Amino acid sequence: MTASATGTPIFVGVETSSYSGATLLAFLLNAHPSITSIGELNGLIPSEDPESYLCSCGKKIKDCDFWQSVSCEMKRRGFEFNVADFRTAFRLSGQVWLQRLRAGSFRNAKLDAIRDWLLQKLPQERRQFKALAARNLALIESILMLTGKRVFVDTSKDHLRVRALQMFSPYDVRVIHLVRDPRGVVASRLRRGVPIDAEQAARQWVRLHMRLQNLHGNSLADKYIRIRYEDLCQNPRAVLKQLYTFCGVDSDFEIADWQAMPHHIVGNVMRLANVDAIKLDERWRSLLTETQKKDIWQIAGRLSEQYGYCAQA
Ligand SMILES: [Zn+2]
Repeated sequence: MTASATGTPIFVGVETSSYSGATLLAFLLNAHPSITSIGELNGLIPSEDPESYLCSCGKKIKDCDFWQSVSCEMKRRGFEFNVADFRTAFRLSGQVWLQRLRAGSFRNAKLDAIRDWLLQKLPQERRQFKALAARNLALIESILMLTGKRVFVDTSKDHLRVRALQMFSPYDVRVIHLVRDPRGVVASRLRRGVPIDAEQAARQWVRLHMRLQNLHGNSLADKYIRIRYEDLCQNPRAVLKQLYTFCGVDSDFEIADWQAMPHHIVGNVMRLANVDAIKLDERWRSLLTETQKKDIWQIAGRLSEQYGYCAQA
């Protein structure tokens, strides 16, 4: 029997790098009658002005009825909630070695589990984790209650959330590992003025996806699925059907008018895009120089090939 059939609530974390289509995926999944997503459960980033920030419904987030209802629900659960500062991010304190130990992976599911078990023996660590997990849970439950749905999808890329909810929640926790051609990711970062060169960005892409594979791919088994941004754009119906099955919801649902449905998504500017059709962003082909393409492939080619990308794409 599936978890959804037994009534266990489901939390799905979308794990990926920036500019890999996570916000698009949040919109698409949120259109399903059993799945809800507000995009990034971490809320606004510090550089964003909460006074002028627009919710994807078009209203200022401070004036959005949905978010006001969320604040009331949170209060009912004993938590003060302000849309300007969700206070849900797993930014835990501690010395550098502890931060690294906590966020990394030994590339071995058993060793990672032992690490988690040992860390939870530290009273301060356990207290921080538990308190943040409780706040996250209250917010997830509030949103599920308000939307009347039963599967919650988060696209925050906050890698500790999945682990915290596995340890301190009744949720059935699953992971969608979303990958995009590294040349696309690097070009998007460079285009937005991220102070980094193509090689550094490619190295970061490799490190992140190796870590995600090691952290989740090895330990979650059938609760882990990997999809590609390119497949989602080129064949959304087939990929969504696969994801519906993965999330334990009705896979026969047809996503015809996803933009007409109410969405209250927090994330990058994509949330405001008025897209008539889902379009694959391949601007990297002209944005990157031939040297940059070669350099990226030299660093990220091996892992990219595992994901089905080709040097001469
Ligand atoms: Zn809204």
